Amino acid sequence: QAKSLGRGRHHFFDVGLRERMQRRLRMEQDLRYAVHDGQLWPAYQPVVDLRTGEMVAVEALLRWTHPRHGAISPAEFIPLAEESDLINVIGKEMLRATTRELAARRVQQGLDLTLKVNLSARQLDDPHLVPAVQDALAATGLPAGALCLEVTESALMRDQEAAAEVLASLRSLGVLLAIDDFGTGYSSLAQLRRLTLDTLKIDRSFITGIAESRDAEAIVTSIIAMAHAVDLTVIAEGVESAEQLELLRALGCDQAQGYHLGRPVSAAELFDQ
Ligand code: C2E
Ligand code: MG
Ligand code: MG
Ligand code: MG
Repeated sequence: QAKSLGRGRHHFFDVGLRERMQRRLRMEQDLRYAVHDGQLWPAYQPVVDLRTGEMVAVEALLRWTHPRHGAISPAEFIPLAEESDLINVIGKEMLRATTRELAARRVQQGLDLTLKVNLSARQLDDPHLVPAVQDALAATGLPAGALCLEVTESALMRDQEAAAEVLASLRSLGVLLAIDDFGTGYSSLAQLRRLTLDTLKIDRSFITGIAESRDAEAIVTSIIAMAHAVDLTVIAEGVESAEQLELLRALGCDQAQGYHLGRPVSAAELFDQ
């Protein structure tokens, strides 16, 4: 019986694998085309200061509107782009487009917002990253201090020496640095100190249960205390309810982001109405 079950699974596995590989290959071709066809665009999600209730920053999140398949999640296509040089092309364009947008809004609407842009692990390895950031700032006139680059905890811990070096170079440009999805990796307080970051973003998975679970609340409390001990601004990701927001405020969290405060939308939708 075990044998026939095994055979059956094997068969299904093969079919699934072939389909998945074909889908991937098609998607990579489509993505390559999408970059040049203008199908990729930045959405912006507000980041709110918990003391004043005001929007103090926006996070740029990449969106792909496929002509046939509609919206494709970055969780699906970023890993694909990371397997090739595409992520560097896309990342540079994202930097260019979003710094241009925010610089224009500053001048036209007097908006004093920090722009947050995500960097992938592959981009940290790119020797052209630092000059590309410098170029984007110079070309658009966005002040360096108004740009915050977000790198995930796992990307930072992959090669700590190399990451520390790139972050130091970025920092010397005057930009701010954030550690994203904090809590999902295994970094220590000592490592955090060494990286000279400005902001720590608590991963959504810890915020989800915060209003119901004492454990979740205890974890968030200790992350906030630890971050504040090394002078980091703390942002809670994925705030979906008023209860979570109130609790985070009471725990001394500095800023928050999430569907309860605002979903990622186009620049026009966020700034023009
Ligand atoms: P991230 O940087 O941690 O961004 C936060 C993600 O959580 C976004 O997903 C956002 O839409 C989602 N989110 C925000 N508030 C809520 C909430 O209240 N509930 C829930 N369930 N989700 C919420 P998104 O846009 O799908 O992006 C996923 C990830 O893809 C990002 O995670 C980031 O790691 C990556 N990514 C997005 N844009 C870029 C980019 O331009 N470059 C790079 N390298 N990575 C990007
Ligand atoms: Mg982020
Ligand atoms: Mg995150
Ligand atoms: Mg994430």
